[in-house]
Formats: sequence, C-alpha cells, structure tokens
Amino acid sequence: MSKIRYERPVIKKLETGMPNKFGTRTEYVPMTHIDGVSVKSLIKEYGTPLFVISEKTIRNTIKKAKKAFDTRYPKVQFAWSYKTNYLNAVCSIFHQEGSWAEVVSGFEYDKAISLGVDGKKIIFNGPEKSEEDLTKAIMNDSLIHIDHLDELYTITELAEKLKLRPRVAIRVNMDTGVYPMWDRFGFNYENGQAWDAINKIMHSGKMELVGLHCHIGTFMLSPFAYGVAASKLAELALSVEQKFKHEIKYIDLGGGFASKNTLKGSYLPGTDTNPTFDDFAEAISTALLNSNFKQDKLPLLILETGRALIDEAGYLLGSVISNKRSSTGRRNTILDIGVNILFTSFWYDHKITPAQSFTQYSEDTCVYGPLCMNIDVIRESTSLPLLNRGDHVVIHSVGAYNMTQWMQFISLRPHVVLIDTDEKPHVIRLRETLDNMNSMELIPSHLGIRKSQIVNRKS
Ligand SMILES: *Cc1c(COP(=O)(O)O)cnc(C)c1O
Repeated sequence: MSKIRYERPVIKKLETGMPNKFGTRTEYVPMTHIDGVSVKSLIKEYGTPLFVISEKTIRNTIKKAKKAFDTRYPKVQFAWSYKTNYLNAVCSIFHQEGSWAEVVSGFEYDKAISLGVDGKKIIFNGPEKSEEDLTKAIMNDSLIHIDHLDELYTITELAEKLKLRPRVAIRVNMDTGVYPMWDRFGFNYENGQAWDAINKIMHSGKMELVGLHCHIGTFMLSPFAYGVAASKLAELALSVEQKFKHEIKYIDLGGGFASKNTLKGSYLPGTDTNPTFDDFAEAISTALLNSNFKQDKLPLLILETGRALIDEAGYLLGSVISNKRSSTGRRNTILDIGVNILFTSFWYDHKITPAQSFTQYSEDTCVYGPLCMNIDVIRESTSLPLLNRGDHVVIHSVGAYNMTQWMQFISLRPHVVLIDTDEKPHVIRLRETLDNMNSMELIPSHLGIRKSQIVNRKS
C-alpha cells in the first residue's frame, strides 16, 4: 500500500445548502487512464495543457446516434458539422463512419474538399457565401442552403451564367416553443417568408429545390421542439408537392442535440438529465411518420448533429500551478488551462477529476486559469480534494467547439492527441511555436528590424 500523504489541517466554514443526490463529494477515484493509455505517460510525452481525443468514443457515439434513428426511420443521413471540431483527423473519422460534411463558410468548404469529400455530399450553410464560394459549390453540385433573398438572387444569376442547375434548399426558422427563438438565420415559417422564398425559387425555374432545412438552436434540452420543427417542415414540403407537383427529397433538421455536459447553474449533472439520442429520434421520426407523406414518398432525413457526437470524446489535461486562499479564506486552485483554450467553461460546469490518488477530504474550490484576466475562471465552485503544485487534472467533455473557438492569447495553443481504437496515441495537431506566429507577421522596413532577424534572434 502506498504511504498516505500528509495533509495540512484546515479550519473551514460550515457551508449550508443541499448536497446533490450523490452527497457532497463528486470525485471518488482518480482518472489515471484514457482508453487504456496512462495519463501520466501522455503528460510526460506531450506536456500540459494537452487535448486528448478518443477515437473509440467518437465511433461508439456516432454508431449509437445512427442506431437510434435507423431503427425508427427508413432513410437517415448524418452530416458532420465542421465548426464543432474541424481537425482533419476528427472529420476523417466521421467521414469513415459515413457522414457527409456540413460547412458554414468558404474556409470550411475548402477544408472538406481538401479532405476528399465528394462535392455532392457537402451541405453549404451559413449567411456568408461569396460569389466565388457559390460558384465552386454549384460546379461541384453541392447542396446549397439559402439563408436570405440576396443569396437567392445571386444564385439565380450564377445559374444563368454557368448554365447549371444548382441544387438548393432553404433554411427555415420557426417557433418551436423554445425561446428566445433563433429567427436570424433563414426564412421565417409563421410569417410566410419561407413560403415566399419557395415560390421565388420554383417560379425562377433556375434551381432544383431539393430540401428544406432548419437548425433550431444549440444544446437543446427539448426533443419536443424537434417534433414541432419536423411537422412544420413536412407541412411545407407537402404544400410544395401540392402546388408545384414537385417532390422535396430531404428534410434536414440541423444539429443542436444537447451533449452530456452540465449547463452552469444546473442542479443535477447533465449525464443524468439530458435527453438521449433515442429521445430526439423518437420525437423526430414520429412527427415525420405521422405527417401526410405517402409511405413510398418519405423524404430522406438529414441530421447535422455536432456537439452531442464529439463532446464526451474530448479531454483536456492540465497541471496545478498553485493553491492560494482568497480574501474570504476560500481555496483557489490555479491551473495551466485558461479560458482561451477552454471557451466552453463560460457555459458548462466541466467535470474536473484529479489524475493521481488523493485523500478523502474535499473542499469547495474555485478553479482559475493562468491568464492575466479576471474572466479566466474554469469553475467558480466545485468540490475537489487537495491538489498540490505539479499535480494533474483531467477536464471532461471538451470535444465540441474548444478546438475551433480557441484563442492564441499570451501563449501558444497546445498539442492535440488522438488515441486510436488500438489504444495508440497520435499527435493530430502540433503545439504552436513562436516561429509559427512570427511567420505571419511583417515589420515595415522603417521600423528597423527585418523579419529574418526576429527568427534568428530566437534563443
Ligand atoms: C453549428 C451548427 C450545427 C451543429 O450544431 P450543434 O449544436 O453542435 O449540434 C448544425 N447545423 C448548423 C447550420 C449549424 O450552424
């Protein structure tokens, strides 16, 4: 048995308030391994901070999501939301699992093409698509989801110029009973904008209206809202069929399913309360099957699920820099992980687990990052055992959005490692270097120092 560590006694104020249903302690065992790879060895090899992604978890999660839908609806297609995590290795796993690409910018569109995705399997969303982007998308026969009338007219012009018939859908926003309503993207259902746009497309005769799209929000906790959305899109599709004798090939319900993370201020952990893929699939497929589509005319159901497919596959390893007491005596622990690389700590109470053995006492702790900024708080309050300088922690469920929204602020972004299904780690994105940063900067000659000198002066 290993020697029990001495812990300095502390006198602490009795906190009143309810324990959660698991009692006041949240951590019982250290997290020493991720998919069979020791956390210690990962840190020794790559340092901290370090993002770690589990390929096994990604594959299991997408399989679970597909199964939930495939067992309830005959025609289902997932499209990977690039902005949720567009590391090439991550996108490639989803493409191997059969997902199409869902992109929201010219940059993401080019990224999908560079990964070898068939243009016909790229869904191009978003309010900003330049003429150049649209031209590319039309030539590649991609699925263009129109966001506003200006885009509709641009596509009409391009179709004439290129003598091609673009495949388009419109993005529809609507009241699903969840507020505030996301009504800034696409055309509104209730006030008739969506029907207007459809009529303009059909009467122009220049485009092939293949689908109807919506993306009603993100981290949605209500499967019912998806049922409402599916019914409204089904109704629109049936109206098109009736008026124009034209069949809508697919209904795309976007993304937004909640992951298992815990929203700030929630009483119970998200793992216990958030809806499952089965809950969402049940609401959506029931709405579509109960609509007036004939059985042999059911549209393809497309899903652009992002965060719910990747959040749990991501971990962030960090080191303790110091502990101190605040002016009120509360314990503050400072990590080498800041909000610049853990953007989602603004929304979630991320679970933090020590990576080495610890004693049984825990204390309410505020966890700070290393940035010289007051907003750099990872957890305002969490019960943690004593952590010493140099100890390590594992932050859970960080796979969504952090590796796309991260900021290079006062330091360099860290390595990202993928653990493959044979429990072998691979670096999939290198830690940035000062040279990487300097290579993009230029100093006008009147300021004396030349770019090459900066690089040469590096110690
Ligand atoms: C961001 C986005 C998604 C993915 O959303 P999640 O909340 O990550 O599931 C899907 N579709 C569109 C149009 C988006 O903008």
